[in-house]
Amino acid sequence: MKDAEFQGLVAQLGGLSEVQRGALLEALKSKRPAAEALKLIEARFGAAPCCGHCGSHAQQPWGHASDLKRYRCKDCRRTFNALTGTPLAAAQLHRRDVWLAYGQALADGVSLRKAAKRCRIDLTTSFRWRHRFLATAQDKKARSLAGVVEADETFFLKSHKGSRKIAGRAPRKRGLSEEQVPVLIARDRSTATTDQILPDLKAETIARALDAIVARDALLVSDGAACSSYRSFANGAGILHVGLNTSAGERRWGVYHIQNVNAYESRLKQWLRRFRGVATRYLPSYLGWRRMIDREGDRLTACFCIATAAEARPTST
Ligand SMILES: [Zn+2]
Repeated sequence: MKDAEFQGLVAQLGGLSEVQRGALLEALKSKRPAAEALKLIEARFGAAPCCGHCGSHAQQPWGHASDLKRYRCKDCRRTFNALTGTPLAAAQLHRRDVWLAYGQALADGVSLRKAAKRCRIDLTTSFRWRHRFLATAQDKKARSLAGVVEADETFFLKSHKGSRKIAGRAPRKRGLSEEQVPVLIARDRSTATTDQILPDLKAETIARALDAIVARDALLVSDGAACSSYRSFANGAGILHVGLNTSAGERRWGVYHIQNVNAYESRLKQWLRRFRGVATRYLPSYLGWRRMIDREGDRLTACFCIATAAEARPTST
């Protein structure tokens, strides 16, 4: 219902004083975002309800609870609703009225503090919600890359931000590899993108990361210090490989370059600056968030973020 229709409806209620009408309008307004968020979740789920406990599609309606339709599974006989088994399940009773606003904060990519202020929630809630709302996005990445596949590694400074065990930690030494977390990013020319946090850049580690993802008829392009690791993977898997010697100024070889993956990396790094350092343990969340922003473009709305968060996480990552 539009705002004007709402006000019209309230105006029709006779016998109310101006103050009472205002209070009613406010009360209704404050309920609406929660209702909208739930309506969206119910509509998506209702199209193909699936038991959040066992995955069965055989169920019967089982009344309502917590403002959501309840179902009973004919297989495991447990009851469930649209949020059962999703990252939002544990949050289902709290402050649904600001879920849409929080979805918008995610679509806009704002900091924790800004999201908290917008939604009038405290910083701890904002923090908890961020990781819960992003849990599904974190798992969504390209599962296969084809054609010309550009691969590159990028580094993030190890950070224990927010950790209580920070006292007694050795002072940070910049430039030392053990202080850095390598992340492999691979992107094909259809913009399918995947990334993976790696323990190191050894040939077997790179091979493990790329083996299930890169199509056997793809052409892999890489450069840099770890180039021999990519080559060794490509040789082992029978994949064509173009290794660029960028330190000698070779930025491309014919139509082959890694400018798309490099551009992705720089958008990622630039975007991460607003968070002023990301704790290493939450890096997967941020990587997933950035992939979602990059992948969805204009489709990324508050509703999209809520709908994604309310999807069950894939069981295999
Ligand atoms: Zn079931």
